Amino acid sequence: MCGVTPYDSGHMGHAFTFSIFDVLVRFLESQNQRVKYVQNITDVDDPLFERAKRDGVDWRELADRETKVHIRDMTALGWRPPDVMPRVSEEIPGIVSAATRLHSRGYAYKTDALYFDTATYPGYGRLSHRTRRSMLRKLREEGLLGKVGPDAKRDALDFPLWRRSLENEPEWPSKFGEGRPGWHIECSVMAMRYLGPQIDIHGGGRDLQFSHHESERAQSESLTGKKPFARAWMHTGMVRYGGHKMSKSRGNLVKVSQALQRAPAAAVRLYLVSHRYGHDWEFTWAGMARYTKLVDRLHRLLVTDRAQANPGRALMAEFNAALSDDLDTPRAVRALRAALAAKDAAAARAMLAILAGTASLT
Ligand code: ZN
Repeated sequence: MCGVTPYDSGHMGHAFTFSIFDVLVRFLESQNQRVKYVQNITDVDDPLFERAKRDGVDWRELADRETKVHIRDMTALGWRPPDVMPRVSEEIPGIVSAATRLHSRGYAYKTDALYFDTATYPGYGRLSHRTRRSMLRKLREEGLLGKVGPDAKRDALDFPLWRRSLENEPEWPSKFGEGRPGWHIECSVMAMRYLGPQIDIHGGGRDLQFSHHESERAQSESLTGKKPFARAWMHTGMVRYGGHKMSKSRGNLVKVSQALQRAPAAAVRLYLVSHRYGHDWEFTWAGMARYTKLVDRLHRLLVTDRAQANPGRALMAEFNAALSDDLDTPRAVRALRAALAAKDAAAARAMLAILAGTASLT
């Protein structure tokens, strides 16, 4: 799971992604599947360095502070913590060694930086179903296009594995000169170190599908020769607010802490996961308030009925069928409402344990 770049405290877009994956992990574990959950912290990344420079703080201090905010928010939202949360800044030797191997095997070339040669990977673009033109357009929009030329990239789609650091940025030694890793290689190396050459499920926000995951897949499969790198990719949709995608650049963020001031944590969680993971949706305060009401009613049911009866079989079967169907969380939330309507406290408790984790009902 691609985690946060820790430079601005978590907003509902992040919380949506991590809550959805929390439901996935908890559901798999409830079905007796053993899960090893790795979520990285991207603490070597352009936006983090830009923010540290703007605010005149050390990048490490900023990263530490914002990583704590992320963990605090998600703990309040009741997640099952990842088994490993590697930080890029502590994984540099593995990254240098992967870049070196890609270079010595002919998948990368060195000019002003060390670039991955996308021409060596035939399926580049297939993961995100994009044409070359559409890939170039997205890179341009994100300011990642870079320069093509004899002292730069050979092709606009190529991306840096290792590059020179700017002033105020950290740098590490490597055979390609002092510098720092490119973004994509960081995730390949961390994923493979903790999960092996092939992984079952790779998650992240849909904005990462191209270029991040496309590039991660190309370099990982080039490194190991094993396909596929990830057996399933799960991308979460974007959360809008006031008609636009919630983003730091636009400034229309609803922070997790703001939501938690207005509703019990379980209501925030249920509101988030009442949306289908791959779809975009619009955050509204009125929408969240409906889940405050639902959580109040659930709380009353659970405190008045503490009997350890078995949950209704039909209700649980419907709930499990919903989550087995490509993690249909809206349908699972409807099953929770049905358990409430049937006053089946045991079923409601079991469903809440997956949909809301340990998030508080009050
Ligand atoms: Zn990543």
